[in-house]
Amino acid sequence: MNTESAEAKITAWLATQQDAMLRVLEAMVNTDGGSYDKAGVDAVGAQIRAFCEEHGLKVETVRGERYGDCLRAILPHEGPAKSRGNQAQNIVLMGHRDTVFPKGEPQRRPFTVKDGKAFGPGVADMKAGLVMNMFVLAAFAKCGGAPGPLVGLFTGDEEIGSPEGRAVIEEEARGARVVFNSEPGRPGNGVVTGRKGGVFMVFDIEGKAAHSGGNFEAGISAIGELAHKITAIHALTDLKRGITLNVGLVSGGQSVNTVAPHAQGQIDLRYVNPEDRDEVMGKIEAIIARAHVPGTKAKLAIKGEFRPLTQDAAAARLFDLYRSVSEAPVEGMFSGGCADSGFTADMGAPTICAVGPVGGNAHSPEEWLDVSTLVPRAQAAARAILRLEEAGL
Ligand SMILES: [Zn+2]
Repeated sequence: MNTESAEAKITAWLATQQDAMLRVLEAMVNTDGGSYDKAGVDAVGAQIRAFCEEHGLKVETVRGERYGDCLRAILPHEGPAKSRGNQAQNIVLMGHRDTVFPKGEPQRRPFTVKDGKAFGPGVADMKAGLVMNMFVLAAFAKCGGAPGPLVGLFTGDEEIGSPEGRAVIEEEARGARVVFNSEPGRPGNGVVTGRKGGVFMVFDIEGKAAHSGGNFEAGISAIGELAHKITAIHALTDLKRGITLNVGLVSGGQSVNTVAPHAQGQIDLRYVNPEDRDEVMGKIEAIIARAHVPGTKAKLAIKGEFRPLTQDAAAARLFDLYRSVSEAPVEGMFSGGCADSGFTADMGAPTICAVGPVGGNAHSPEEWLDVSTLVPRAQAAARAILRLEEAGL
């Protein structure tokens, strides 16, 4: 089958699927699945598995210990696939199933549609993207024409930095021809071609308790030290280079009349250039190691990390291809937010992010999805896949 006839069949079939997409989306939004709710995230996984198997795909499970399992829905390729080394090069459609919402949110705020917009927890970020990926996979399973093996990778812990998903994503990216990450599309039909990297850290300071009235001089104030460290850490911000430091959480002390024996701060570092990471981290480590208040001790731990999404020549070709096959004009945007696409780009896989249906106000009760973008976004992804070869990808 040539590309034109496969494209005509696939886009025509997808054009008939909006109602079916909404039904699948409704069931997924109404299933609880915050990042720490493994059972819930896996229940959404069971829905994806059932759909994919019904539509002729094979589904593999990579077990998660604490967080949701990763699922790989596979459509093998018949005929010669493009290969890099001796690895089959998979065309990867990626997305995360977990949401940021507390348990019970779908009961309080179930899926609704009003005036062309859908609402509910995770409706845009990113259950609509998962639905889009599922229907693109189903379209290729039904109509054929894929230029290589397709993999739908459905992960379970992105919203907390992918502590377990990262290794699975990196392994997938190592053998990937291209990666489409279906985070929500930006209003105005935007996709994301660059993202900041992020490092999330916690530091603990130890001082010495003493009565602040009766025995002041015996105390060593961890809170006094915390104040010095916050100021020094914030001073590392360099907006021109896109480097920001935010101590967003602090705690400490025992009582108002006790010299504080402990204190804690949590740091969010964001950066644009991959090479800036180690330089800033070195400076943070030096600040943590140096005691301004004599006698205090401090230690630093990294709690989570995302790599920046960067655009190399191949990723730029993928963006140009995507833009050329989308019916609506597409804008490439930069985001300070982090996502799993940073890991795939870091592994050298040409990556494009936020190709999911368009939505906004993610992580809030006002989160919305533009229902009219479900089909066109799926069609654009399918067309881009069909034309990878022509784009030299
Ligand atoms: Zn997301």
